[in-house]
Amino acid sequence: MRIAEIYLENLAHNIAQIKQNLRPGVKICAAVKADAYGHGAVRCAKKAVECGVEFLSVATVGEGIELRKAGISRPILVLSLCDKSEMRSLVKYNLTPLVGDAEYIDLIEAAAKKFFKSQKNSANEISAERKNTSNKTCEKFAVHLAVDTGMGRIGCLPHEAKDLAKKIALSQNLSLGGVCTHFASADETSKKYRDYAQSQYEKFSLAINSIRAEKVDAGIVHCSSSAALLDRPEWQFDMVRPGIILYGYCAGKITQKYLSQKKIRFEPKPVMALVTSVSAIRHFAKGQSVSYGCTWTSERETKIAVLPIGYADGLLRRASPGLEVAINGKKYPVRGRICMDQCMAEIGMKSDAKRFDRVVIFGPKESGALCTAQDLADAQGTIPYEILTSISKRVKRIFI
Ligand SMILES: *Cc1c(COP(=O)(O)O)cnc(C)c1O
Repeated sequence: MRIAEIYLENLAHNIAQIKQNLRPGVKICAAVKADAYGHGAVRCAKKAVECGVEFLSVATVGEGIELRKAGISRPILVLSLCDKSEMRSLVKYNLTPLVGDAEYIDLIEAAAKKFFKSQKNSANEISAERKNTSNKTCEKFAVHLAVDTGMGRIGCLPHEAKDLAKKIALSQNLSLGGVCTHFASADETSKKYRDYAQSQYEKFSLAINSIRAEKVDAGIVHCSSSAALLDRPEWQFDMVRPGIILYGYCAGKITQKYLSQKKIRFEPKPVMALVTSVSAIRHFAKGQSVSYGCTWTSERETKIAVLPIGYADGLLRRASPGLEVAINGKKYPVRGRICMDQCMAEIGMKSDAKRFDRVVIFGPKESGALCTAQDLADAQGTIPYEILTSISKRVKRIFI
């Protein structure tokens, strides 16, 4: 048994916490990419919409289609660039791409033109997929212009923004739904990184002003993901794009403690608990070793609980030694290497743990967990994003 319990009420709580920190009228674009950071995109997106989230964001066209097929009609931003072969689907399912160069804009324009023409030819019938979406009355296909202000990933350079914005606004089949950028270091607190984020913000502001100076409507302006939206409320513009904080974790060094020092109230609750059960209790004499490579050997008589969860479930191999799991409210160390499908925890001679007892690896308090994905990330030199998105398909998501 290996399951990820998804506490949807905690997602709702986190959204409410975010809203408390937003300036009036600022929209939320909830990042549900990578299967909602491993939490299950459809259920999380539906919950987020129920909580008043206006936009969703995904990384790939396939992720967007999954949401549309589940009946989600909110605008969906596709944050990564897509292949030419995916552009028809982009238009068909009314997914909103980020664009950042003339060639890409031309390709999307051509795909939109072709799609709209084929629609007209098919007896003015709006396809079922597009009917499902919120901007069915808009005959133009909305795109958001991405400006690269220093992330070095996607987008145009700030000085190119006004011409590209104009190009989109004047095109036959596209409309400029918004303009955005993405920060490279908003989750850091040292002066060097804060200055860098500040310079990105300033470049972005100038780009927005240059677009408006051309009398082009920039649409929805957005730049802040989790870190910036909390730490830099003055940068919220028209919309914010939280991801990790939806799922109950702080972004980088923008911790709860750091925020509370700045008098910003934010108390997120983890949404996922990773749970398994004891599949056997073994009685070991002194000198018996555990797992591949025999990296751990019992120093005294002890008991070992065999747990049916391993690195193929996303319990990363590097987590041991160091990982502790909770059984009946007590912490026990995982011994030896984590295998693909199993691992072993030492419960000692006095533990009351027995076969089929619930084992919680991380999660919110109410799950019985004694640590969070942040604790695991800290111990492994990574970030909660990686811990959460590593939980594999084999782990059944149960929504609570
Ligand atoms: C993933 C992503 C986000 C959300 O980031 P978090 O740090 O999880 O809040 C926002 N914007 C873009 C462009 C992203 O790729």
